[in-house]
Amino acid sequence: MADLNFARGPDRREFLTRCAALGGATLVGVKRGRGRSVRFRAYPFTLGVASGDPAPQGLVLWTRLAPEPLTPSGGMLPQNVTVRWEIAQDERFSRGLLRGDVTAVPSLAHAVHVEVNGLQPDREYWYRFIAGDESSPAGRTRTAPLGTDLPEALRFAFASCQHYEQGFFTALRHLAAEDIRFVVHLGDYIYESGATPDRPRRHEGDEIMTLDEYRQRYALYKLDADLQAAHAALPWIVTWDDHEVDNNYAGDRDENGTPPPEFLRRRAAAYQAYYEHMPVRRGARPDGPNARLYRRLRFGRLLDLHVLDGRQYRTDQPCGDGRKPRCADAFDARATLLGRAQEAWLEQGLGQSNARWNAIANQVPLSQIDNEPGENASYSMDRWDGYVAARSRLLQRLRARRPNPPIVITGDTHFSLAGELRPEFGNPASPVVGVEFIGTSLSSGGDGQDMADFGQRFLDANPDLRFFNNQRGYVRCVVTPREWQADYRVVDFVTRPGSPITTRASFTVLDGRPGLQRA
Ligand code: FE
Ligand code: CA
Repeated sequence: MADLNFARGPDRREFLTRCAALGGATLVGVKRGRGRSVRFRAYPFTLGVASGDPAPQGLVLWTRLAPEPLTPSGGMLPQNVTVRWEIAQDERFSRGLLRGDVTAVPSLAHAVHVEVNGLQPDREYWYRFIAGDESSPAGRTRTAPLGTDLPEALRFAFASCQHYEQGFFTALRHLAAEDIRFVVHLGDYIYESGATPDRPRRHEGDEIMTLDEYRQRYALYKLDADLQAAHAALPWIVTWDDHEVDNNYAGDRDENGTPPPEFLRRRAAAYQAYYEHMPVRRGARPDGPNARLYRRLRFGRLLDLHVLDGRQYRTDQPCGDGRKPRCADAFDARATLLGRAQEAWLEQGLGQSNARWNAIANQVPLSQIDNEPGENASYSMDRWDGYVAARSRLLQRLRARRPNPPIVITGDTHFSLAGELRPEFGNPASPVVGVEFIGTSLSSGGDGQDMADFGQRFLDANPDLRFFNNQRGYVRCVVTPREWQADYRVVDFVTRPGSPITTRASFTVLDGRPGLQRA
């Protein structure tokens, strides 16, 4: 690699002058005429490594060069840098080594996304990156089983909502040590709010709006050692919810009535920074304010995972958003949470699936959650409860798969719920068409407690809901051809580090027997 960034650019004196003019620049010199000519003033792999979207023959490897991660440029000059990637079957990189070079470019904040192919199915791999004389930590990852195989078991976990200010990511440290194959993250990977006083940890500055600010926020989160450990231990399958952009946004609308063209510029910046920091395939790279994030992953004949994007295409929340009795707009058949194209894509995917289990990685609760027992009812207009006709359409799609119940895995709420999905919620004569496992937050909401007043109200008002817990954690799933088990893993506290983790409750769903059983 003789042609690294400055090797045939300006001479060294000009180069150093430019460094000084840019301030905070980190590439400090070039050894002409030989490879590995880039040198960093500080260690460039401060944000760790990640892998994602496992397929039988390949997956995505991610890192970003950021020697000064909390500065807008990450401490990099606006020049391309060649990064070597390596992946092997063992931690010492001695067996089955594959490697190549990729160019880290300033327009993507020197993030790299390597789509590796030619790997063996259902196998553990180790990977790392090298730039100049610096080597990243090694990450561990795993390919998916062959499409024709029916694995005896598949273990994974799903999680969401990691507010940096509201708690430590202790649950992610535990997740890294689980005997599982991958992680599904359902959104709120960052929060966009400005710094809040009296929190265990602090955001920097005001609410983030610009590309630089989103980049710095991702860097702040990714400096967290527990988050890095969870990425380095397992491949992640990620999707976003609202806080990767702005609280409760819907399509081109934010909460504050910002003109859509102006909000779309913010959305474009937020999507760009999201792509730069996530181990997703190049097909997810945004084109302005648009990015194709919904996608399907297959795990042999055991599981088809349909990953949704419930924000980008939705119509505005009805009835002025918030929690309230439904107004007529909540029943509007033209309203959509997924958009028509994604709805059709999901219908087709569910219809054609030959997998034993279908799971839907979903953002906001699909279950009906009435907030008030008794005569009165109130619902969150930001959830599927505000999009009643669209939900009915989706429940019909689930029903078509009877008697094999689709499993919906959901984030957003910052508490745990488990429930049965019926076309007519609350009517025991209405058939169960699926099961929803709602996972709590990783840290958002702080320590929490086992039961909360509002949780008891949910259980009293919604007979389809079978479990509530208000602690932080994630859900571990063990999927076999015969049953799906979900273990609600919770930590005792997040406002200081070091909590142990325990299984608060377990539920099973049997193949061919729609319904939820307490394990
Ligand atoms: Fe959240
Ligand atoms: Ca959310």
